[in-house]
Amino acid sequence: MHVDAVIFGGGVAGLWTLDRLVRQGCHAVLLESRALGFGQTVASQGIIHGGMKYSLHGWLSKSAQHIRKMPEIWQQALLGRTAPNLTNTRLRSPACYLWQTESLASMAGMLGARIGLQVTPEPVPDDDRPAVFAQVTGSLSRLPEQVIDPASFLTDLAAQHRDRLLLIDPSDDGLRFELTSPGEVIRIHLTCPETGKTLSLKPEQVLLTAGAGNARLRKLVGLSADVMQRRPLHMVLARGDLPELHGHCIDGLKTRVTVTSTVDNDNRMVWQIGGQVAEDGVRMTPQQLTDHAARELQAVLPQLDFTNVEWSSYTIDRAEAQTEGNTRPETIQVLCAGNVTTGWPTKLALAPLLAEEMAARVQPIVAEANRIMQPLIAWPKPPVAEYAWNETERAWWPVDLAPRQFAPQRRAA
Ligand SMILES: Cc1cc2nc3c(=O)[nH]c(=O)nc-3n(C[C@H](O)[C@H](O)[C@H](O)COP(=O)(O)OP(=O)(O)OC[C@H]3O[C@@H](n4cnc5c(N)ncnc54)[C@H](O)[C@@H]3O)c2cc1C
Repeated sequence: MHVDAVIFGGGVAGLWTLDRLVRQGCHAVLLESRALGFGQTVASQGIIHGGMKYSLHGWLSKSAQHIRKMPEIWQQALLGRTAPNLTNTRLRSPACYLWQTESLASMAGMLGARIGLQVTPEPVPDDDRPAVFAQVTGSLSRLPEQVIDPASFLTDLAAQHRDRLLLIDPSDDGLRFELTSPGEVIRIHLTCPETGKTLSLKPEQVLLTAGAGNARLRKLVGLSADVMQRRPLHMVLARGDLPELHGHCIDGLKTRVTVTSTVDNDNRMVWQIGGQVAEDGVRMTPQQLTDHAARELQAVLPQLDFTNVEWSSYTIDRAEAQTEGNTRPETIQVLCAGNVTTGWPTKLALAPLLAEEMAARVQPIVAEANRIMQPLIAWPKPPVAEYAWNETERAWWPVDLAPRQFAPQRRAA
């Protein structure tokens, strides 16, 4: 089957790119090896950043410059005013709170408006403070950065492009590339993991948006895999009697904790906790990390009672283009070689920018008459990935927040 583009990977990057290509008249299909968004998208906190997080030092960083238009682009899509139509994507919150624990802490980072951000923090007057911040003595602002529910986003776009999504077996039994030279793909041969049926795709362009999976796919098409880095996170989950909260505690120039919340399949409130805690947690065991996170949360939200809360954690790598010093790239990263384009959005919020860049590589040259959709319609479809907090096998445990008792040191005789 002749197609304008074959996309590998159905996270936020691949699905947004597919939508963009279809709208520009291209015949495109998306191949997913496991579940849509498996890896980063479904593990993410769903915050549509507008650059505040990258401007805490008080100037407009390159990262902030690139990301500052994203909240508006997402908002228009969520309202159904621009493509993609995301009216069935659930908004967890229209805004995040920013709070500081000390009233004298630096305000440099809270001055978004003066440094040119489009989404800027609005101070919350003392008498409007939500109860969760009642005992916080530092400043509190409301930042209109929306928080989306990533799984509902994946479900929304998958429903609109169902016929173009194919579940593939990525092993040598299910996927074979035919190349003329490194990075020049002439055919992709698929064997269906469920039915054993085969399908050959003849793509004009191949787009790799498979997150961490891009490394292996690049090897298979004869390109270097050393262009990618993984930066690990160890995220914390808390569930139980907790209020709904979306926000960042900023201390100094760091995001001490980032909390987003949702409910699990049994309707319990779940907090997903990232920020510095998740960076530090990489060097900790799950129990050490949840102990540390619980104490951090008690310090930054002193009025909350975490006694009956259950804790858990999960590890996940951020997959990005390689940088010097293994730092976060400042924006999307796109590499082109032959008819293969590899992309990493760097942030979920930046997916629209990546999709535009990837789609610019593809022209609609496959005539309408050549669009044989039947084999695609009949092919098995990938499910949407499950959230960590809904995994049935997941272990949860309590954390003892009583002050630590240190045994008195014995004096040497
Ligand atoms: C814990 C965490 C929190 C985050 N929070 C935020 C946030 O709040 N806001 C924000 O803007 N960004 C956030 N990010 C970053 C954001 O999640 C990622 O930048 C983004 O989701 C990457 O999307 P992706 O589509 O490139 O990759 P992924 O979401 O990893 O998707 C890759 C897809 O490719 C598939 N795949 C893999 N190998 C193959 C193969 N061989 N063939 C076919 N398919 C394949 C996978 O199954 C998967 O579906 C967060 C990241 C993490 C880890």
